[in-house]
Amino acid sequence: MAHDVSDLRTLNGASPELIPQDLPKASNLQRTLKSSIGCSGVGLHSGVRVAMKLHPAPANSGIVFKRIDLVGGGSEIPARWDRIADSRMCTVLAAENGVSVATVEHLMAAFYGMSIDNALVELNGPEVPAMDGSAAPFIFLMECAGVTEQSVPRKHLRILKPVVYSNGTKEVTLAPAKSGLKLNFDIDFAAPAVGQQSCSFDIDRDVFKAEISKARTFGFLSDVTALREAGLARGGSLENAIVVDGDRVLNEDGLRHSDEFVRHKVLDAIGDLYLTGHRIVGEFQGFCSSHADTANLLRLVFAEDSNWDLIEAPESNASDTGQTWDQPLRQATAG
Ligand SMILES: [Zn+2]
Repeated sequence: MAHDVSDLRTLNGASPELIPQDLPKASNLQRTLKSSIGCSGVGLHSGVRVAMKLHPAPANSGIVFKRIDLVGGGSEIPARWDRIADSRMCTVLAAENGVSVATVEHLMAAFYGMSIDNALVELNGPEVPAMDGSAAPFIFLMECAGVTEQSVPRKHLRILKPVVYSNGTKEVTLAPAKSGLKLNFDIDFAAPAVGQQSCSFDIDRDVFKAEISKARTFGFLSDVTALREAGLARGGSLENAIVVDGDRVLNEDGLRHSDEFVRHKVLDAIGDLYLTGHRIVGEFQGFCSSHADTANLLRLVFAEDSNWDLIEAPESNASDTGQTWDQPLRQATAG
């Protein structure tokens, strides 16, 4: 079944343009949703139909997933790098008791893009709905619910020295940056429809929404049989993914950006990086890398306390506002 942003319009009868969402950009207070909101759709890999509800959550609680279809305790799963249980095709988080939730990355990217620090995500199934394969429907949901500031300042994860993870020809790096999160990504696929693409973005709310959020996940027709035999991509279709066959894009409406593929890789990286539990002051470089490479990079970053610290800082332009970036709050335990 198709899900696009216009379908979501019926969720609360409101158009997002009517909802004030321009909280001050320079504020460094934590944010959560103003109200609860939900949607439903099919999981990309499981093919299972799942209802999802996003709820406001207290300051310092972070993003937490909760499986409400399971009886018993322990079904809450913090969206944190040390909960990554699988990242071969998508990012899967698991609680200590093994309860898991799959394909969290596009939703996590939307939370990052909307500068939302705290939310509870309830799911009645094993996977976040794929929607249209991008983060745009989640942005729409969050805008409909509204965003509110909390009274507690946010702490940013500042990268203090370059950390590199290499895996054959793939490589990912996090390096220090003056302010905010910058992402650079390069891909090189054999399929001519994708080929070599590069992009670079300084992420803020406007850039994320306009340049990144609409980029859809993609797959290759030649892989579909193997993926389905492995129990993956069961919910995948032309309605929630770009499907490539050699030099052709099979989706009738074509691409949303000429470089939609590499933009989606940026979207994935933002979602995975938000599993640090914090907004990031640093520069990410991805070269032909995947979810698993980013997960391994995060493990390397947090393996050494000297790689990072936590600071209070405005969203951007710190040097312009006269606020200092030089005062670490504390070396907290990672996550
Ligand atoms: Zn993705």
